[in-house]
Amino acid sequence: TKRITQNSLNERVILPHNKDELYDLSFSINELLQRIENTIERKRQFTSDASHELRTPLSTLKGTLEVLIRKPRERSEYEDKIKCSLTEIDRMTATIEQLLLLARLDVNSRTVDRSLVPLPHIIDEILSRHKTPILQKKLTIAFQKGVLLEEMAPQYYTTLIMENIIGNAIKYAKEASTIHIEIARMDSKIICKIQDEGIGIKKEDLNNVFKRFFRSDALNHKNIPGNGLGLSIAKKAADAINAKIYVDSEFGVGTTFTISF
Ligand code: ADP
Repeated sequence: TKRITQNSLNERVILPHNKDELYDLSFSINELLQRIENTIERKRQFTSDASHELRTPLSTLKGTLEVLIRKPRERSEYEDKIKCSLTEIDRMTATIEQLLLLARLDVNSRTVDRSLVPLPHIIDEILSRHKTPILQKKLTIAFQKGVLLEEMAPQYYTTLIMENIIGNAIKYAKEASTIHIEIARMDSKIICKIQDEGIGIKKEDLNNVFKRFFRSDALNHKNIPGNGLGLSIAKKAADAINAKIYVDSEFGVGTTFTISF
């Protein structure tokens, strides 16, 4: 029943019939404009956070090089400063790679991940990649695969989710603690729980952990490397396969991430 006319630009325009329809239309347009404004604001914030995140280490690097060039120094001092600079460059490279990955996920979030792999295999592979910190921190990994050994998962997105969540569990775990990983079936869903006995997350931070560049300002956090992008990557990857990630934590005691596939 909608009247459709051709305007001069040859676009299709749906004209409202009466006042009510006109009101509905202006309401929808306002809502749309609000959404566009929010998206632009989010992008602006992201660009500004990303620039800040890269400018800080670059300033440190510049400062270090300026100090070195001012006068001749001992070889050992050169070595120390160059090593620190290389670490800083590695961190920046990792941040840039994660930003590129996020941008790719923003564009390709609907790409179908056809490569299916058993979920326990994905987890085993991630654990073997983290062998060194697991050994260094004397962590025990209690991996309960249940009877779901052959449960298949889309490899690319599931690896992104698990890599970031298991990586964090290892990174934020206390020395000589245990990380429990459990896969179970609940109704039609596969549930995977990753529980650490780590530094925990404050209640007021729980809603923020999936935001880009968010890092808790808890005191014991400063020496743990990170840039606050891992969980936003995990969240984007979960959105792409309709998985959900839940987090529960007690500050100072530990954190549990639950992923429902
Ligand atoms: P980061 O690189 O800082 O680890 P993430 O996006 O992966 O970035 O996580 C965001 C923040 O959430 C972390 O900086 C940390 O404050 C908190 N967090 C995430 N996982 C854990 C965990 N398992 N235990 C304690 N805090 C965590």
